[in-house]
Amino acid sequence: MRIARFAGDDDPRFGVVGEEDGVPTIAVLKGDPLYAGFELTGQKVKVEDVRLLAPVIPRSKVVGIGRNFADHAAELGNDVPETPLVFLKPNTSVIGPGEPIFHPEQSSNVHFEGELAVVIGRICKDVPAADASKVIFGYTVANDVTARDLQKSDGQWARAKGFDTFCPIGPWIETNLDPADLRVTTTVNGETKQDGRTSDMVHKVPDLIAYVSSFMTLLPGDLLLTGTPAGVGRVVPGDSVSITIEGLGTLTNPVVDAS
Ligand code: MG
Repeated sequence: MRIARFAGDDDPRFGVVGEEDGVPTIAVLKGDPLYAGFELTGQKVKVEDVRLLAPVIPRSKVVGIGRNFADHAAELGNDVPETPLVFLKPNTSVIGPGEPIFHPEQSSNVHFEGELAVVIGRICKDVPAADASKVIFGYTVANDVTARDLQKSDGQWARAKGFDTFCPIGPWIETNLDPADLRVTTTVNGETKQDGRTSDMVHKVPDLIAYVSSFMTLLPGDLLLTGTPAGVGRVVPGDSVSITIEGLGTLTNPVVDAS
């Protein structure tokens, strides 16, 4: 099931994405399915008539995993960490499909990072890897936008990963997906830059949930970004970044000057 959050003429609403007579359509839900379940209103809207928004706004946090693909770690001259390398992005960095990534003046080397994102479905702590699927609501596509120069110069990653608009997600949440072996591709202005598979993750999704939940409580709507394959690179204002994950869809965002 694909869950979208969207805006028409009124407040953001949630719905189930499907097709009616070959036309992409959203069956509107009564509330946020993370908290209110999947009760339908009976109303349907065409996808083309609404604006898709970030499918979830994390209440507390976006958890990122660094250097989780050996070829990506190597391309930046880093070793693969034995235990997952965890960082946080603020929830204020989250934007939706089509919304602009603001290129900050503070950086001269902003990179895209195409990633599979896990959406947490329930409050949890100390989740065994074997039970990870029980706390997963679904999956979406994420761009872990990173100011590479500031990441290096700051040491800490809060600024480099945390600018407003540095966490595009979408276009929806897929609740029925096996994350073990999915193709992840990123294009910039139509040119392919990343082409990897989630099967090449060093630490797999269940192990990441077990590790992260071993030291912090995860809440419904929290996001876990699982790391990026090789091929990261710079974007500048005027570029358009598209990330496609097999079975999920494509997330596209323009890059614009923040000044
Ligand atoms: Mg990343």
